[in-house]
Amino acid sequence: MAELTSLRDALIEEIKDLYDAEKQLTKAMPKMAKAATSQDLRTAIETHLEETRGQMSRLEQVFDLLDERAKGKHCAGMAGIIEEGSDAMGEDAPGSVMDACIIASAQRAEHYEMAAYGTVVAWAEALDEAEVAQLLQQTLDEEKATDKKLSALAEAGINEAASAGSDEEEDDEEDEDEEEEESTTVGVPRSSSRKRS
Ligand code: FE
Ligand code: FE
Repeated sequence: MAELTSLRDALIEEIKDLYDAEKQLTKAMPKMAKAATSQDLRTAIETHLEETRGQMSRLEQVFDLLDERAKGKHCAGMAGIIEEGSDAMGEDAPGSVMDACIIASAQRAEHYEMAAYGTVVAWAEALDEAEVAQLLQQTLDEEKATDKKLSALAEAGINEAASAGSDEEEDDEEDEDEEEEESTTVGVPRSSSRKRS
């Protein structure tokens, strides 16, 4: 990790982290859009993919304003969120349940971004970097709007469809009986041990 001698250094580190996070998302979102069955959800993801490309160029402007070379630094947090999302997408699920899961992981990504952009806006303001703060605020507003849109889609029918769908799949529950396996290997305490004499 680079030496952080000032809040400005810390800001630059966070911007590098965000640049990488956005880049990871531009790779993940086409897969999410493809896995979505709701046309509205697919459109929302594709729209945000375009926005995300714009957010990357905004970050490039920020690097410029801070006299830094545009360069990412691996964002392990976003990598983890994306990995969990792709695990869910690998599962076999009815379309509406899959859509609900895609929304769940997309909202995790948005909240992670909202936290990070909230921080860098505040830091840029503290450092009197008004133009930087304003660019980052624009992105923060887009992330918040995307999060709201995802909630609206979930609440406008996807969750309901997913819950109706899972009622129809009751037959699948048969296998669950076999899943329980007793594990009684741990020693049971003995209250008394009798000696025979
Ligand atoms: Fe973003
Ligand atoms: Fe986003």
